[in-house]
Amino acid sequence: MSSEHEILNHLGINGISADIIRKNALEYSVYASSVQEIEGSLLFLVREEDGRRLVIINPCTILDDFAGDEYHDGKVRICPADKSNLKPLWRHFPFTRPIAYADKPVTIGLGDRLGIATPGHIKAIKETVAFPVLAQQSMRELNFTGRTYEDVLSTAAWSVFQEGYKSGYGADGDHLKTADEIKMALDIGMTMITLDCSDYIDNTIEGLEFHELSARYQKLPEKPRLEMESRYLGREFEISPDLCLSFSISDLMGLILIYHRAIEYIKSIYYEVISRSERAVDFEISIDETKTPTSPLAHYFVASELKQADVAFTSLAPRFCGEFQKGIDYIGDKEKFTQEFTDHVGIAEFFGTYKISVHSGSDKFSIFPIVGAKTRQFFHLKTAGTSWLEAIRVIALHAPDLYREIHSFSLENLEEAKKYYVISADTSRISDISQVNDSGLADLMDDPDARQLIHISYGLILNARRSDGSSRFRARMYAIWYKHDPDYAAALARHIGRHLADLGVKKNNEGIE
Ligand code: ZN
Repeated sequence: MSSEHEILNHLGINGISADIIRKNALEYSVYASSVQEIEGSLLFLVREEDGRRLVIINPCTILDDFAGDEYHDGKVRICPADKSNLKPLWRHFPFTRPIAYADKPVTIGLGDRLGIATPGHIKAIKETVAFPVLAQQSMRELNFTGRTYEDVLSTAAWSVFQEGYKSGYGADGDHLKTADEIKMALDIGMTMITLDCSDYIDNTIEGLEFHELSARYQKLPEKPRLEMESRYLGREFEISPDLCLSFSISDLMGLILIYHRAIEYIKSIYYEVISRSERAVDFEISIDETKTPTSPLAHYFVASELKQADVAFTSLAPRFCGEFQKGIDYIGDKEKFTQEFTDHVGIAEFFGTYKISVHSGSDKFSIFPIVGAKTRQFFHLKTAGTSWLEAIRVIALHAPDLYREIHSFSLENLEEAKKYYVISADTSRISDISQVNDSGLADLMDDPDARQLIHISYGLILNARRSDGSSRFRARMYAIWYKHDPDYAAALARHIGRHLADLGVKKNNEGIE
C-alpha cells in the first residue's frame, strides 16, 4: 500500500486539513512544506520509493489540468510530479517558475545533475540573501546524465514546490555554444544563458614573436583594425586608484587576434537571440574555457568592445590564474589570484553594469573569502560537482557494497574519464578500498584524489550498463537516494551552507538593526 493511500485511510478524507497533514507529515512521508490550498482543494507532495507524487484532495475544476489517477470517487487525485505536470504547476503556483535575477547582488548557481539536490540547495540558501540559480546545466552535463532541459526545469520546479520556496530562482542554460542551443533553452523556459565563446577564441596567438603577430594582424580587415587602434592606442584607462591600463601595439594586436571572432560572435548572439527574447534574460559571457588566464587587459578589451557595441550582459566569467578543478579547493598562487581578481572586479565596477562570475566554484574554500570581500558581495558563483560528490557520500554511508563497485569501476575507467575533465589527481594516493572498512568509506569523499576520481567519472557511472542493457549502477543509486533523501538534503544544506558562510554571504536577518 502506498503512502498517499495510507495517510488518507488513516486520517480520512472528510475533515482533513492542511494542519493535520503537516502534523502527520513525517509519519506518512509527506513533504510538510509542500502543503498548499487552492479554492478548497489541498495539494501536497509525498515521497514514494521511485520519486515524488502530487496528491490533490477535493480537486476543484480549475485544477483539472493536473493529470493523474483518481481515487475515492474522484475526491483524491494522484499525479506524477514530473515534466508531464510542469505547465499546470507553473500556472497555479507561479513561484515555481524560474525568473531572471536582474540586479540581485549575490547569485549562486547550484547545479543539480541528478535531479535530487535542489531541496538541499534550497535549505542552504533560504536563510541567506543570495538568489539561487537552481536549474543549471551544460550540454556536456545533459549528455552525461541523459537528461533534457525539460527534465532539469521540472525537477527544480517540483523541488521548489516541495520546499514551499517563494523567493524566486533562476535557470541557467550553462556553457551553450550555438544559437540553436540557446533558442531551445529559452523556448523551454531557461532564464539565464551562459554563452561559451571558447570555439572562437584563438589559442594559437599567445607566445608569438612580434613579426609573426604583426603579419597575422595585417591580414585582418583594415577598417575595424584602425578603429580599434584609435580606441586603445596612446591612451590611459584609469580603472581605479590602483589600476591604470594602457595598451602597447603588440598588446593590442595580440588581443584583437585572440578575441575578435569571439566578440563578433557574442554580438551576433546578442542581437539575433538574446535581445529579441520576450522575457528578461540574464546573459553571461564566458571566456573561461581557454588555455591561458584572462589578463585584466584582456578583460578590459573584451568588455569595452561589447559596451561599444551596446551588448548588455549580466556577468562575465574570465579564466583566472591558477587552477579551478572540479570538486576540490583552488590550486595556485593565492596572492597572485587576489591581485588579479581585484583587478577584474575593478574593471567590472568601472563599467558598472555586470558582475564577475566564478565558474567551477565548488569547494574553493581557500579563495571564497577573497571573492566575497573583493566583490563587496556582488558576484555570481557556479557549483555543481560538489552536490554529486555529496550524493556519493550518501551511497558510501548507506550502501557500502554499491560504493565499492562504483569506486572500482571508476578506477578501471579512469583513462576514459580523463578525456572529459582536466584533473591533477594522483590516483595511486587513494586508499586501497579493500583495506577500508565500511564505516570509513564515506571519508573518501574528504580526500581530494578520491573526490576527483569520482567527480570526473559521473557520466560513465550513470551510463554504465550490464550486458543485457540494464543500468549497472543508476537504478540502484537512485533507489538509495530516494530512500535517504532527507539525509542528502541535510548534508547539502551543511556543505553548501559552508560555501555561503565562507563567501561571507549575509543571513536574511543580518544587518537589519
Ligand atoms: Zn565555465
